[in-house]
Amino acid sequence: APNTDYAIETRNVTKTFKGFTAVDDVSLKVRHGTIHALIGPNGAGKSTMFNLITKFLEPTSGSIHLDGRDITRDKPAQIARAGAVRSFQISSVFPNLTLLENIRVALQRRMGNSYHFWESQARLDVLNEDARRILAEVGLDDSESVLASELPYGRKRLLELATTLAMEPRVMLLDEPMAGMGTGDVARVANIIRKVSQGRTVLMVEHNLNVVADLSDRITVLQQGSVLAEGTYEEVSTNRQVRSAYMGE
Ligand code: ADP
Ligand code: MG
Repeated sequence: APNTDYAIETRNVTKTFKGFTAVDDVSLKVRHGTIHALIGPNGAGKSTMFNLITKFLEPTSGSIHLDGRDITRDKPAQIARAGAVRSFQISSVFPNLTLLENIRVALQRRMGNSYHFWESQARLDVLNEDARRILAEVGLDDSESVLASELPYGRKRLLELATTLAMEPRVMLLDEPMAGMGTGDVARVANIIRKVSQGRTVLMVEHNLNVVADLSDRITVLQQGSVLAEGTYEEVSTNRQVRSAYMGE
């Protein structure tokens, strides 16, 4: 039966690659409007879970549900149209376009159109207004005429986040959004994630446990493809198995 309590639900999902089990019987439940972190050591199966949820991979067994709807047989484009959008690790930024143009392209793609260089002025005005609002959400509104290629690393990641926002996701999947960032940018991105999570669901893979503690409503710990623990940060960080397996105690 459909369970609409959850924005994302996987039921007993297993994924094997030529006999190797990367994801093993994982039942993940992500409540609407929450920030849920997926953590675990390298090779635990976190990225594979993201690929399964966004349908870039087919599960070997089990089912996947979005808003209670079974999406196990759906294609990636259908998942994106249903409002689940993945950011990071897949770059959606065009280096030779300005920030404003990058967001405009993302907005046009959302609306199912290809990029038109010659838009009517009226339509350009509307697109630009939307694009500026999105750039402001991630704090890039001061750089709308800068070429994406000229952005420093941290700001490039923010632009990726902005192109994801342009897709108007109800569910955002963020794979290591702070990877490679300095402490200043980490704090900035954390604030932005908190802000953009209002009214949205966020599933996030993140290695920085301070960020995880700070942002997450709930956490699922994976180890060797299986769920080791699930709960609040307090619960998982005091779990004996988690402490011995993940935190090396
Ligand atoms: P994580 O993101 O938690 O570091 P991954 O989901 O990337 O882990 O990988 C989980 C395991 O599955 C790893 O042992 C990895 O080598 C393996 N794996 C991932 N993708 C493939 C693939 N396409 N073919 C074979 N093995 C894979
Ligand atoms: Mg990974």
